[in-house]
Amino acid sequence: MTQVFKTRITEDFGIEHPIIQGGMMWVSQPELVAAVSNAGGFGILTALTFETAEGLANAIARTRDLTDKPFGVNVTFLPTLIPKDYGSLIDVIVDEGIGIVETAGRNPEPYLEHIKKGGARVVHKCTSVRFAKKAESIGCDYVSIDGCECAGHPGEEDITSLVLIPATVDAVNIPIIASGGFADARGLVAALALGAEAMNMGTRFVATQEAAAHDNVKQWYVDASETDTMYVMRSLRNTERVLRNPIAEKVVELEGQGAGIAELAPLVSGKNGLRVLEDGDIDVGLMTAGQCVGLVRDVPTVKELIDTIIGEAQQIVGARLAGMTA
Ligand code: NAD
Repeated sequence: MTQVFKTRITEDFGIEHPIIQGGMMWVSQPELVAAVSNAGGFGILTALTFETAEGLANAIARTRDLTDKPFGVNVTFLPTLIPKDYGSLIDVIVDEGIGIVETAGRNPEPYLEHIKKGGARVVHKCTSVRFAKKAESIGCDYVSIDGCECAGHPGEEDITSLVLIPATVDAVNIPIIASGGFADARGLVAALALGAEAMNMGTRFVATQEAAAHDNVKQWYVDASETDTMYVMRSLRNTERVLRNPIAEKVVELEGQGAGIAELAPLVSGKNGLRVLEDGDIDVGLMTAGQCVGLVRDVPTVKELIDTIIGEAQQIVGARLAGMTA
C-alpha cells in the first residue's frame, strides 16, 4: 500500500505508515517485528526477551534476514526477579547500529550516553506528562506516551490516552507517539487528531498470525471484551494490566493480605507468562493485555491488519470527517 499519512515519525524513522509495534516481552520476536516493518510499519524487538547479549545479537541478525526495512529494539528498566545485565545488551544495540531504541520503565538517563554512542535515537515510553518533560530535558528524541488503557505497566496515575496525549503534546516539543488503547483505524485517526505523529500498538499485534503466541492466547484475545483486564501489583507501585484469570485474582487477593514481592513472585514470574504464551494454558500465569483487547475480533496477518487500518483511516478522514465539514 502506498503512503497515505506522512508525519514527523514516518519521515524520521524512514517508514511508510505511522504504525509502531511496541516492544512486548516474549512476543516481539523477529518474525513479528520483520512482518510489521515489511508491511510499512515499525517493528520493535524486546531486548530482555533474549536474556543474553548473544541471544539479542542472534535475534537482530534473524530480523535482518527477514527484512531490509528499519526496526528498533526495546530496553525496559523495570524491577525484575533476576537482575539483568543491561550494559551488555546495550553494547549489542550499539555494535549492531540499531537506529531507534525504545526505553521504558524508568528514567533512562544513566544509560542514555551509552545507547546514543552509536548514533541511535531514543523513544522513551512514559506514563505521565512529568516523565515526558523529563525525557525531553535529558535528550530523548521522542516520547511514546502511554495512557492507562495500555497493556503491561500503566504507571500509577490512571490518566487515559484521551487526556494524556494532548496534554503531553502541549508540554513538549519532541514528536509524540500515542500509546495505550489503540487497535484500529479509528484509533489511528484519533491519535493523529490528538497531536501524535504515530500510534503504537501492542495488544492488537498479539492477535496476528506472525506473533509468537499460542493459538489459545490469540483466541483469548479475540473472545475477551474491554472489561476483561485488571490491575495487579498496585500495592507494590509496579502496577501491571493483565487479562483476568485465576492467577491475577489470586495476586490481588494476596496483595489485600499485605503480601510483598517475595510471596507474589511464584505467581507473577514472567516464566509463567512464557508458559501461557508457549503452551497455551491460559491459567498458569499472567498475560498482559490492554483494554483495547475488546476491539480485537480476528487474527489477521500483520500485512492484512496494517493495510486494513490504513485503508479505513483514509476513508474516515477522506469521507466521514470530510463529509461532516460544513
Ligand atoms: P520478572 O519475571 O522478573 O518479574 C515479574 C513481574 O514482577 C514483573 O512485572 C516485574 O516488574 C515484577 N517485579 C519483579 N521484581 C519486583 C520487585 N522487586 N518489586 C516490584 N515488582 C517486581 O519479569 P519478566 O516477565 O521476566 O519481564 C522482565 C522485565 O520486562 C520486567 O521488568 C517486566 O516488568 C518487563 N516487561 C516488559 C514488557 C514489555 O512489553 N516491554 C512486558 C512485560 C514485562
